[in-house]
Amino acid sequence: MEVDKAVGLPRLSRVAVCGGTHGNELSGVYLVRELLKEEKEEEEKEQKPLSVMLVLSNPWAVQQCRRYISTDLNRCFTHAMLNGPASDTTPYELLRSRQLNALLGPKGSPEAVDLICDLHNTTANMGLCFITYSDHDWICLHIFKYLQRQMPDIPMRYIHFDVSNKESYSLDSVGKHGFAMEIGPQPHGVVRSNIYTAMKSGVQHMLDWVRLFNSGTIFEGEYVDVFTMVKHIDYPRDRETGNIIAAVHPRLQACRPTSSSGTGVTRNVTPVEQFENICSLNMIHHSRMAAVFV
Ligand SMILES: [Zn+2]
Repeated sequence: MEVDKAVGLPRLSRVAVCGGTHGNELSGVYLVRELLKEEKEEEEKEQKPLSVMLVLSNPWAVQQCRRYISTDLNRCFTHAMLNGPASDTTPYELLRSRQLNALLGPKGSPEAVDLICDLHNTTANMGLCFITYSDHDWICLHIFKYLQRQMPDIPMRYIHFDVSNKESYSLDSVGKHGFAMEIGPQPHGVVRSNIYTAMKSGVQHMLDWVRLFNSGTIFEGEYVDVFTMVKHIDYPRDRETGNIIAAVHPRLQACRPTSSSGTGVTRNVTPVEQFENICSLNMIHHSRMAAVFV
């Protein structure tokens, strides 16, 4: 997408940082807890440089260190699921998604928060990924470019799921702008200091960008590589039972996926990484960002 003219956008006055949407992805859980502690100290000192809502999305799953209790919370934010009937048998996460929609949304309404950053981990060696539903959201694209500049040692990818707003199913879709920040490799139920530190830096730089944006800074247009899902690749499976019958070769295990820009060719990608991070594969296109200002 090419845009040559400048784009003016409203201030981002309400920003939410969410962790623990998946209860066993602990970098975001630990970071939100730490930010909540810092926020309390700032309130005591009456310093409030930027208003940020800090949300532990699935507290019950966090308590049990499980991805979810009844159903995956991060698949519960479609319009149909948020607005359907509720009964005694409604799964916990579906009820929780409606609470979060009341807190951060309602999705698609003028009252929704301006920006949601939802924190996730992956076991794959992916570095830092933005996962979004738009390849032309100037706010998300500019934040991503800013993080790339500020954190040159961390590999980064911008991943686009081509799904309509109504069908978008993850927590970040509730905000006017939103993205998941997913960082790996980190086993579930574990905190690795390097992954935690990368996430903390990413969130701090994201908030710095918002402060710059809100203060009237003009950001020049640039290019971003956007990765789009082409197809799912499964493990080899037993024809009768459906069980997985292959494992990753030791020479490929934990390798970082790479791809050739613009050619559609993918090299050195393990089946596990393809399975878990399929969006990083096969195709790259270029989005040119418009210059944006408040
Ligand atoms: Zn997750």
